[in-house]
Amino acid sequence: MIADKEQQFVDLVRRVKACKRCPRMADSARVLGAGCGSLSAKVMFIGEAPGRLGADASELPFHGDKSGHNFESLLEQVGLSRYDAFVTNAVLCNPKDENGNNATPSSSEVANCASFLKEQLELVDAPVVVTLGAVALRATALVNAHTLTLKDSVRRAHLWAGRQLIPAYHPGQRAMVHRSFANQLADYQFVAEVVRRGGSTSRRKPSAKVSRASQTVGAAARVLLEESGELSYFALHKLLFMAEVRHLEATSQRLTEGYYVRQKDGPYCVELHASRLAALIPGCFTRTVGKHLLVSLGQEDLLGGASHVGALGEVARRTLSEVAAKYGRLPAGKLKTAVYLTVPMRKLLRKERALRMNLFNSAVLPAP
Ligand code: SF4
Repeated sequence: MIADKEQQFVDLVRRVKACKRCPRMADSARVLGAGCGSLSAKVMFIGEAPGRLGADASELPFHGDKSGHNFESLLEQVGLSRYDAFVTNAVLCNPKDENGNNATPSSSEVANCASFLKEQLELVDAPVVVTLGAVALRATALVNAHTLTLKDSVRRAHLWAGRQLIPAYHPGQRAMVHRSFANQLADYQFVAEVVRRGGSTSRRKPSAKVSRASQTVGAAARVLLEESGELSYFALHKLLFMAEVRHLEATSQRLTEGYYVRQKDGPYCVELHASRLAALIPGCFTRTVGKHLLVSLGQEDLLGGASHVGALGEVARRTLSEVAAKYGRLPAGKLKTAVYLTVPMRKLLRKERALRMNLFNSAVLPAP
């Protein structure tokens, strides 16, 4: 049944990648793929369109730009994670204006993409659907008629097409003028509660300022930096992944609660986005050399001035030390090879060969 669902999704992705219905989207990425999330998600988020600096570049919906950071922060603060969700957009390509900036999709573009939205809704079949912004809400009305408006229906669950439809505001900066971050946080708390009542998977406790995922990822990254000194951003992600795999093999448990996805150069930890390094690893320094971002700890931290590794157990810390000692000084190419030889990566590569497609942005590790 799951395999059948996966095959249907692969077929849908192929048709979307080949779609040419909207002329001005010709050069935009078609943002639908494994990075959207679980096909068994308990909640589906629908945004407006991929952003130029976000999903159009990362192909991971709501990741990499300001809207993405806000969205991820809102999810995190109410205890939801991407493991729980399927995230997509009313239109699957980035609409740009004549200056190359983000534009609002036209009614005809939303209508062009409505059949793809319908297929996603039916395939994922999430009991809770959250629209982010007025465009997304209107798009759902093209799939199954309703008369809801954002202003009158926000933060309420409406029975729609056999599911709960919750209208919410878009997490972009412009929408924050109409609905502040604090108000949006209350909206997401409501969403998380409805998802929980819908019988979703075991959930982290809501309203932690920093989620357990971020705490554990930050703590693990700090240990790697303590052990290795300065690391490239690339190496930090890869070493974290190697430690995760080693810990999983030894204990059958995840080392952190981070969300790792497959990207072109291997696994990438979503929580550890470059813009969040300072928040996750207090006191860390970054500098850029050529194209490379380098990360290190300040002297004070190295002398034990600020240890934040309490979120990790003893075994986890030992594993991180061993990984840092074994792989921390490898050149990038050799580290990448070591990563690709791990069991989860080999399994994913086999699956890609069987499906004859890249599964960029799909989850590489099991949920914690
Ligand atoms: S937005 Fe949708 S309908 Fe338009 S080209 Fe992209 S995939 Fe096709």
